[in-house]
Amino acid sequence: MQWPRFMRRPSNIISVPTVVESLPITKPGFSFGDPRQKVSSLERDFGSTLLPFNEHSESFVAPFPRQGENTELLLERLDELPRKMLVALYESKTPLWPNFLIHHAVGDGLNLQSVRSCMRHQGRGYTEAWCVLPASKMAKLIRGQKLSKPLLCGSSWQNKRFLSTAVDHQRTLAQLENTQPIEHVDRITVVMPHYDDEVLQCGGAMLQALADNTTVQVIWLSDGSRGVSSVDHQQSSQIRRAESAAAMAELGIKNTHHLGGIETLLTADDSICEQLRHLLSEFRPQRVHGVWWADNHVDHYEANLILQRAWPQDLDATIAASSLWQVMPPRTVVELTTQQHQQKMRALQCYKSQIDAVDYSRLSRHLDAFFASQYDADYAENFWHVPANEYFTAMQASQITARRWFG
Ligand SMILES: [Zn+2]
Repeated sequence: MQWPRFMRRPSNIISVPTVVESLPITKPGFSFGDPRQKVSSLERDFGSTLLPFNEHSESFVAPFPRQGENTELLLERLDELPRKMLVALYESKTPLWPNFLIHHAVGDGLNLQSVRSCMRHQGRGYTEAWCVLPASKMAKLIRGQKLSKPLLCGSSWQNKRFLSTAVDHQRTLAQLENTQPIEHVDRITVVMPHYDDEVLQCGGAMLQALADNTTVQVIWLSDGSRGVSSVDHQQSSQIRRAESAAAMAELGIKNTHHLGGIETLLTADDSICEQLRHLLSEFRPQRVHGVWWADNHVDHYEANLILQRAWPQDLDATIAASSLWQVMPPRTVVELTTQQHQQKMRALQCYKSQIDAVDYSRLSRHLDAFFASQYDADYAENFWHVPANEYFTAMQASQITARRWFG
């Protein structure tokens, strides 16, 4: 079998989808539009036997609903189905939290399939993302209802964290309201878990800020010690730090800080929170760029607990959150000029040790193209941008801070 091929460090990913060659469903019937043109695996595996859902169908296929879309009709259909009938929802216009991934040599040109491929299939081909669950559980998931226990039914369901984290993700989407435009401020701080996150997630926004005479401070929470697997931890840190210096020189940023938390084991301990609080109190940023709490990476999640704990009480600033390992639906989109995008790509190239393992250039291009697709630009970055108190309140309301992973 040619697949699966996992990315370098799947243990850091909170919920690792199962890579399959075909969907674990039989006799699917589609609803809400014929998906064959959009989803190659359906055409390939079911061809002309894929028909609109009828009494002979053994499973139900539809697109995953967008946040804010009216889901009444879909939920009505799901409630009518036998509780255990498998429902397979595919990723189309909105990023879903997948439990299955399918690789194809030929894609439908959708940027999300290319982004998924970079994370699981080394940047080759196109990867479809699917969420497959029994009807009763799918209805609960879409309603954002907590599930009492994980679903384990046979060897194909290896992803034990999937159900609990999928509900976390679904509930968290409901909190992403009232996003604000990104406007000029005098000082911004970028707080990122890893070397390269700052370029990937807000490289373009930093360039725009710099062009606008904003002072930019960059803080990395982790030490880069686990990012280069062929050398020891200390050497890995040195390589990553040297790469970050080159990337910052490319962007023209001098104000940088390395807080030295252990990569893949970041925790909101006293030392790191004190260091961060001190830096924020001194620099007094008006906007802080960080990672979204529902990003699918252990350190990205933890970075939010650190930021919350470190946040100085008297700091009145906004938070612009972005994501990488779980694409956030478009909120405040910042369009990049061709020149800004090229400079961002040059800065990304400085992280050679990381690009050797994952095709971050392709990932970044397609991610930024996905965010630009509704706008008059080729590339854009995406942020959920709100006052810090709103951000932390929403994080609390999403209940993700009480997250308990199964398995
Ligand atoms: Zn990262």
